[in-house]
Amino acid sequence: MRRVGSFFGGIVPKSAKASTAGTPIEHLGAPETLVVPLLQHSGVEAKPVVAKGDEVLKGQVLAEAGDAMSAPVHSPVSGKVVAIEPRAHQSGHSITSIVIENDGNETWVERKGHPDPVQLDGKTILERIREAGIVGMGGEGYPTAEKLSSPKSHTPDYFIINGCECDPYSTSDAQVMMEYPEDVVLGAKLMAKAAGARKIVIALSDNQREAYAALKAQAGSIEIVTLPAKYPNGGERQLIQAVTGKEVPSGGLPHQAGAIVSNVATARAVALALRDGEPLISRVVTITGKPFAQSGNFMVPIGTPLEYIVQALGGFNQEVGKVVLNGALIGAAQFDLQTPVMKTTTCVIAFAQGESVTPNPSPCIRCARCVDVCPANLLPLKLETFGLNERFDEAREFGALDCIECGACEFICPAKRPLLQYIRFAKMEIIARDKISS
Ligand code: SF4
Ligand code: SF4
Repeated sequence: MRRVGSFFGGIVPKSAKASTAGTPIEHLGAPETLVVPLLQHSGVEAKPVVAKGDEVLKGQVLAEAGDAMSAPVHSPVSGKVVAIEPRAHQSGHSITSIVIENDGNETWVERKGHPDPVQLDGKTILERIREAGIVGMGGEGYPTAEKLSSPKSHTPDYFIINGCECDPYSTSDAQVMMEYPEDVVLGAKLMAKAAGARKIVIALSDNQREAYAALKAQAGSIEIVTLPAKYPNGGERQLIQAVTGKEVPSGGLPHQAGAIVSNVATARAVALALRDGEPLISRVVTITGKPFAQSGNFMVPIGTPLEYIVQALGGFNQEVGKVVLNGALIGAAQFDLQTPVMKTTTCVIAFAQGESVTPNPSPCIRCARCVDVCPANLLPLKLETFGLNERFDEAREFGALDCIECGACEFICPAKRPLLQYIRFAKMEIIARDKISS
């Protein structure tokens, strides 16, 4: 095992993984009604190819990609389309969704897998990944086929599987590595072949011993490296720097540093798509937090409302302050438990009333702790000021677009400043202005 160095900055938040770490993945079953959003990726909404009243099979295409940064969505169950309309979405906005009434029969569409998909050529692998609607399942939703299609001038040296899972609550990736190591390894080989990468590396945090042992038994010549267990060691840029020693240029993309990074859940989805012919219609989600009567890692069909999960696990056993999706430091609080699980939903965290008191920010005391922990070498206190005062040109000049939105600055701030909120705001404004002027 090669231990690689760390990156600048970062934090070591208290781990809250104990209640779900090592819990075997259980199937949660499917609700009577599923809500499949047409926006589960970074591009525009997918375009429906079914209509209200249509009967659909499990795995059938419901909507085609709307552009290169979009991805098709498939039916997680067999049943009937009962509505295509705006529904609650984890972004907080209402997003057009296809509502399926589950017939309970689990009748699959015809599946075309391949017994040894590594024999397929890179172009075919890429096309199957695209057709299966696979996107980055670590949370970012970048279409995987697009990520693997680097320009010819930047064929990557490294294909890195990110198994670090640095969020203090999530354990779903670790469990996927422990229970499906052969799928993770197969998916890594397939993606590396499609991208033309010369070397595959699987990166883990140095406290993931069980996952390491499971992968080691399957990895063959694939190298497994470990990084110090620090947040955010799963950040794409931080991981590339730690593994390859090369920095992604400011404003640039990972392939410019000769590397592509993908998450372990995505690797497993690629294996299922190519070997078994199954599109991305379910995923493993960590369900955790004191109010849940039962917590653990669960296989959940895409489109399952949070309310169904809560009821299936015996409800809440204490007053809930907030429910957060996708990480304690960067996750978004949900206002509606009808919000469904998506391809990018890694974990659902319920905080009890007393745990979720909104801090009262005080003026910045110029301690520079936020600067010391910023893995992107930024000045979070300055960026917050620029965002707060809508000074977007200065925010750009000070590197707002390089912020990876890890939340380490806000976590460490003794004045409890809402740093991430205003930095995100500045980033969104800069990106929106660039789109208008292009
Ligand atoms: S400025 Fe961005 S990258 Fe830096 S610590 Fe804050 S959230 Fe993370
Ligand atoms: S950590 Fe908070 S108080 Fe300290 S400099 Fe940064 S914003 Fe100011």
